[in-house]
Amino acid sequence: MFTLMDKADIISFAGGVPSPYALPVEQLRELADEILKTAGRQVLQYSNIDGYGPLRDWIAETVAARGIKATRDNALILSGGQQGIDLSAKALLNPGDNVLLERPTYLAAITIFKTYEVGFRPVRSDDQGIVPESFEEAILRYKPKMLYVVPTFQNPTGVTIPEERRRAIAEIAGRYGVIVLEDDPYAQLRYDGEPIPSIASFDTEGVVIHVSSFSKIVSPGLRVGYAVAPVEIRDRLAQVKQTTDFHTSNLSQRLIYEFCSRGMLEPHLDSVKQTYKAKRDAALKGMEKYFPEGVRWTHPDGGLFVWVTLPEHIDTSELMKAAAERKVAFIPGVPFYFDETGKNSMRINFSNASFEMLDEGLSRLGAVIRDAM
Ligand code: PMP
Repeated sequence: MFTLMDKADIISFAGGVPSPYALPVEQLRELADEILKTAGRQVLQYSNIDGYGPLRDWIAETVAARGIKATRDNALILSGGQQGIDLSAKALLNPGDNVLLERPTYLAAITIFKTYEVGFRPVRSDDQGIVPESFEEAILRYKPKMLYVVPTFQNPTGVTIPEERRRAIAEIAGRYGVIVLEDDPYAQLRYDGEPIPSIASFDTEGVVIHVSSFSKIVSPGLRVGYAVAPVEIRDRLAQVKQTTDFHTSNLSQRLIYEFCSRGMLEPHLDSVKQTYKAKRDAALKGMEKYFPEGVRWTHPDGGLFVWVTLPEHIDTSELMKAAAERKVAFIPGVPFYFDETGKNSMRINFSNASFEMLDEGLSRLGAVIRDAM
């Protein structure tokens, strides 16, 4: 994917990356200078596994907006949200344990869970995400240890689980003692509608791990994310993190902390969201304009992705070759499924391409799809 994106003449809807113009380069450059001047000997030294204390406090305050009651003791700074998935699997799962996943789900999560040799079991989703009754049925049938879920503007579908379902998921998980890994890096990229409390906010039994990240709202290159979890679970994650990377980069943590605590995040996020909302609208308009009859797609209220479903007979992995010839790229659906299904689907990222490229790329993709119909 990244190799394809590097080819200058390809219009890529493949990555999940922020627009290069949405990265606050100048502000971070000035902050880095100041941090190295005033605290250089601390940030360039080793530090503790838990992360920078003031950043942990800031996170505990921030997640209150998602309904989560937390203190510094619940927060663990991660080297990206991705590490939260890895550490949760490493700390809490044994080979052969069952994990429930949505179909489709975040493809890297599938890869991570594979390395821990767990069993993959499906939980049914519709256009409002996980169906709670199906979650309970799957618990009774498969006796899973964990549910992995991306509840807001899911990667890859853009679907969001509504509040009542979140409450039900937390309640069912608590009742059966199933851990919920709530991977929520897109919640702050909302373009329409009101924010919804997280699944963790409804957790009364201490079973939900809430993972999020600064990748999509500030910078993915700094590699800073966090987990907020019941203390006992958080401590186990910290323990396994120690063997992985000692701690997250001090300089990255300080940059994120200063950026957020000095009030730079809100105006930055407002401007980023404004652009992404316009890009989402342009993407949906382009699909309407160029995609043939018989193609369906999601209408996300936020995030970075639209999920496209083609007629059954079209295999998007095959379609990729024709698309590459016309210099347009997407991710085919199959890698987002742990059971090799989803052949006729594809993920479209709308945040990275410029407005002109969005229109031109969707026109090319429309032609490729029409040829395959
Ligand atoms: N979870 C989901 C659902 C994602 O889409 C991503 C990024 N593509 C991540 C986790 C990992 O992001 P990061 O490690 O950069 O925070």
